[in-house]
Amino acid sequence: MSAPPAPAPPTLPPSPGGPRRLLVAGNWKMNGTRALARTLAEGALAAARAAPEVDVAVFPPYPLLPPVAEILGAPGGPVALGGQACHGDAKGAHTAAVSAGMLLETGCRLVLCGHSEVRREQGQTDDVVVASARAALAAGLRPLVCVGETQAERDGGRAREVVTRQVGAVVAGLPGALARVDLAYEPVWAIGTGRNASPEQAAEVHAWIRAALDAAGGERARILYGGSVAPANIGGFLSQPGVDGVLVGGQSLEAPSFAVLVEAARSAALRRRP
Ligand code: PEP
Repeated sequence: MSAPPAPAPPTLPPSPGGPRRLLVAGNWKMNGTRALARTLAEGALAAARAAPEVDVAVFPPYPLLPPVAEILGAPGGPVALGGQACHGDAKGAHTAAVSAGMLLETGCRLVLCGHSEVRREQGQTDDVVVASARAALAAGLRPLVCVGETQAERDGGRAREVVTRQVGAVVAGLPGALARVDLAYEPVWAIGTGRNASPEQAAEVHAWIRAALDAAGGERARILYGGSVAPANIGGFLSQPGVDGVLVGGQSLEAPSFAVLVEAARSAALRRRP
């Protein structure tokens, strides 16, 4: 067996000024075999090499992290590796959990915190989500914190209240660290349903989030949109100046589709150049 990749250096704040780099992130969820992981990782690598203007990341399930890390090469390459969650503690009696340090040692640079499926299935509160993001930062990972309202909350006119509460917890819980954090607005009703928010709906919520982040010194934090992003609709989202990339589930499991998404982000990045 080959040696695991060397741990990544602690994530540094991005340099101040200039536009935020677009990020295309693929969340594989509980999908994939070693064979599929190889195909997807090689596809992501080829797509990212052809699109140096954007950042690309994949979030495979835990057992597939080592083989994917081997394909992607040492941390710092064109595709960043991420874990799908991490515990708020550095170690201890937490059966079935993984720590941020373990992810770092496996070659990860990023970690999802508070994906709606994890919030729902594990009953994660905002405090638990923020604790996992804090642990990620302490270990040297960059957290990608997911927020978003359910269908019932949107129907009840509570989307702004819910998203503001979730973002407020991040802002209050990670003082001074927001430049090393990214957020994803993922309306729960749009995840895995084929129903995406309209670009205008996404832009409206992104503006709420941006205002909260900027007021707390989080100008460098990216805000991604996630929820049934596909080749046919990514252009609409990335035409909104407040959308700094996409978090993609289903379409990240098809290497050709993911490559199209990365290429679309590259085109958007080129269009955004001053
Ligand atoms: C996700 O898992 O974060 C997601 C947005 O999934 P999908 O693209 O399948 O809706």
